[in-house]
Amino acid sequence: MSAPASQGEVRVFADYERDFRESCDVVVVGSGPTGSVVAHELAEAGRRVVLLEEGPPFTPGEFELEGTLSMTRTMREAGLRATRGFVMPTMQAIALGGGSLVNSAICVRPPEFVFERWCSGFDLERTTRKDLEPHFDAVGEFLGIAPTPEDVQGPRNLLFASGCDALGYSSEPIARNVRGCRGSGECFTGCRSRAKQSMDISYVPAAIRHGARVLTSVQVQRIRSDGRRAAGVEGQVVEPFSGKRSHRFRIDADVVVLAAGCVATPVLLHHSGELANRSGQAGRNLQFHPGVAVMGIFPEPTHPQFGATQGYQSLEFLPDGFKLETLWAPPGVMAVRLPGLGLEYKRHLARISHCAVWDAIVSCNRSLGRVVPRRGRLDPVLHYDVHPEDVKIFQHAAWVLAEILFAAGAKRILPGIHGVPDVLHSLEEAEVVRRGEMRASQFVSAGNHVFSTTRMHGDPARGVVDELGRCHDFDNLYIADTGIFPQCTSVNPMYTGMALAHRTAQALVERT
Ligand SMILES: Cc1cc2nc3c(=O)[nH]c(=O)nc-3n(C[C@H](O)[C@H](O)[C@H](O)COP(=O)(O)OP(=O)(O)OC[C@H]3O[C@@H](n4cnc5c(N)ncnc54)[C@H](O)[C@@H]3O)c2cc1C
Ligand code: SF4
Repeated sequence: MSAPASQGEVRVFADYERDFRESCDVVVVGSGPTGSVVAHELAEAGRRVVLLEEGPPFTPGEFELEGTLSMTRTMREAGLRATRGFVMPTMQAIALGGGSLVNSAICVRPPEFVFERWCSGFDLERTTRKDLEPHFDAVGEFLGIAPTPEDVQGPRNLLFASGCDALGYSSEPIARNVRGCRGSGECFTGCRSRAKQSMDISYVPAAIRHGARVLTSVQVQRIRSDGRRAAGVEGQVVEPFSGKRSHRFRIDADVVVLAAGCVATPVLLHHSGELANRSGQAGRNLQFHPGVAVMGIFPEPTHPQFGATQGYQSLEFLPDGFKLETLWAPPGVMAVRLPGLGLEYKRHLARISHCAVWDAIVSCNRSLGRVVPRRGRLDPVLHYDVHPEDVKIFQHAAWVLAEILFAAGAKRILPGIHGVPDVLHSLEEAEVVRRGEMRASQFVSAGNHVFSTTRMHGDPARGVVDELGRCHDFDNLYIADTGIFPQCTSVNPMYTGMALAHRTAQALVERT
């Protein structure tokens, strides 16, 4: 075995010619928002860091504008991974930069009450909003997080603001990790103008400048350990898109940080012999922010392809359990939720130029699921059930979205709820959305915010990691991804994940 990677480069599939073995101070598994922050902070502090990523890097020329085709290249299971029980698609990226390559760059700090719940419910002492503020600040400054400017909002975002104003609901431009956004609405398929500060063009290159070695197309399959100590990781090189496995590798490290994502990390622990799972909590407590979206059709064209992908939000209803935001995705992806067949479907499709789609992400703290590993495979089965009390929040959120759409001037709305008429023409007609008891299965939902499968808990019997991300059962095994959230964040999770990762990295610098 010999080492293939020299410092200062991103290794790609074509660079691997044989099996290899390397050593470092810290190996980080996963280059999404959390792993990239950890790799950067440790490299900057002078540690020898190796960052491992199963997906390939993408250049702007490699982005596919057609949504479904793009999903086959950038997402696990071609973007069609879904939960069982409550059936809901959930997307996990496979790329250098992880979810940041395809996400909408929304960066929101959760309100204090979220952290108060975490601290009181999970025996945490140092995870108040005040404790995390310096870490949010550091990440925010590094990525240039700022509110979306008016000139790139476009009509479908500004209509949301006018609807909220008319009803007296608060609203604000969304803060995002972008520099020089042109409002192309293409965040989902990759930002061709490189305005979005996804990890592959922000934290990863900065880590490399500080000497980190970055290996892509490498699938970690097992964490090596000896007693209470992790010794490193091993796995195989995988060809991008086909997933064909070839050369074997092994990385020896003093510290192992898992940032493979909330779905992949518990599977890795399982395949490594139920590692770090004395509590039995690894893979349990799976939570989402299921999204409820309503489409409005306006009399004038909204030109929805123009404007920041998600430019406006309202935090008015956070205490009620949902956050409102504007939404856009490639037409092919949007069209999946249109009702009808044949001519009727075509008529709906023809009005996309006049539409605005707004969604609510729901804090489903009572709804739990689990990640179930499959024998010999790293792709898991996901189970998830929605608690009946959380279905009431879906209903409330859909009603408020209807209110705002009509207040903004929509002539009709498409609620996307089974058992409710496909098209509603007035707020009076929309009453059906909030009246009566509904089942979760009536809602067409999606859940790309995923948490809590390796949750932090002050009590080692009830959680996988401590407040700083260290596995309770290990001296030198850490988890940094959103799996460590005790519960959902009630707002978009990436920024919180990065702030916690920043704190973990600082703790590691002090300890190593
Ligand atoms: C379409 C979409 C839009 C979203 N929009 C927003 C938004 O605007 N704002 C927001 O806050 N959140 C958003 N999210 C969620 C956000 O992107 C995630 O919460 C965030 O990316 C999680 O970061 P992470 O580091 O925990 O994991 P990930 O981003 O999932 O990164 C994990 C990385 O680990 C790699 N990996 C996994 N297993 C292995 C292995 N065995 N070996 C090597 N590498 C491995 C993966 O390929 C991946 O690159 C969105 C998500 C999606 C899918
Ligand atoms: S809206 Fe367009 S320009 Fe702005 S960050 Fe997203 S993809 Fe880039």
